[in-house]
Order: sequence, then structure tokens, then C-alpha cells
Amino acid sequence: MVRQAYPKIDNRTSYRTSDLRRFIVAGLLAKGADLNLHVEVRHNRGTNCGGEAVVGRDGRQGRFLRLWLPRPGRAETTDDPLLDLARTLEHEIDHALGLTHRDMLPFRALRPTWHVGLLIRAEEPKPRLTVEERVRARAEHARKMLEVHERKLLREERLVRKWAARVRYYVRKGTPK
Ligand SMILES: [Zn+2]
Repeated sequence: MVRQAYPKIDNRTSYRTSDLRRFIVAGLLAKGADLNLHVEVRHNRGTNCGGEAVVGRDGRQGRFLRLWLPRPGRAETTDDPLLDLARTLEHEIDHALGLTHRDMLPFRALRPTWHVGLLIRAEEPKPRLTVEERVRARAEHARKMLEVHERKLLREERLVRKWAARVRYYVRKGTPK
């Protein structure tokens, strides 16, 4: 398994993880924040972005951010469609750096530029399988599962023989009273 590079992106949206990663890394670098953190990205029901960050709690501050994004096509579009997300990310990174609202610029006063030219594209729709392809995939899966369980069964049979022999040994030897 390939170890995921930092930041760890837990993408629960229908946007491309590679685009989200590029965007989040650009924001973190622009703010001089540590890349070693975990970012969870989810959808919300609205048209604006939202976010959460851990401030102050021992060891957790700066380690975790959560972003909420409208579904593809639902975001309020302006001439700068990623401005809302860039501001949201900056705001949460400020929290991750330990700032509270008292120390921070109001949201509308944030003027990020690092996001210009970046894209957050929706995931490409998966090609639909034909009936034949679906059947072939299921047959392949069934073959693999059979193999896995046959191996398991053989292993269990070996263990049964081993422990049965051990039991016979102690029976022959006679268990001490
Ligand atoms: Zn805040």
C-alpha cells in the first residue's frame, strides 16, 4: 500500500481529490502553515463553503481541518468562483495556526490570490459497465472469494490435524491426576 503524502486528504465529495489537494496545499503554503495535517472535505446542502478547525486543544491544533463544499454546480458563482473556498480555507488555516476571531480579518476582508488559476473539477463520471462486463466482474469476484476461502479451509484443516495430534499425545501420556 502506498503511504499517502501530507496533507492527508479525506475526500468525501464528488470533486477530484487531486484538484482538492493542489488547492489545499497552495493555501497552506501561502499561509506558511505546516503541510502535515489531515483535511476532511465534505459536501453541504448550501451554496456557500464552510469549515471547521481545532484551536487550542493540546496536540490537535493545526493537525485537522474540515471543509464543507456545495455540490458541483450548486456553488454561488461569481467572476471568481473559488474565492469563497479560498477565503474559507484561509480562515480555517488561521485557526489551525492558533488564531481566534479576535486576531483575524473579517471573512469579506480576506483577499487571497494564491487560488487564481486553480481548478476544482467534479470527478469524471464512471463509465457504465455493459451487462457482459458486469457478469464477468462478478464471476471473477466469485472465483477470488472461492480461492480465499479454500485457502482458509486448508489452513484450518492443518490446524485441526495439529491440535488433534497434540490431544492424542496427552491422552497417550496420561493426564496427571
Ligand atoms: Zn472561525
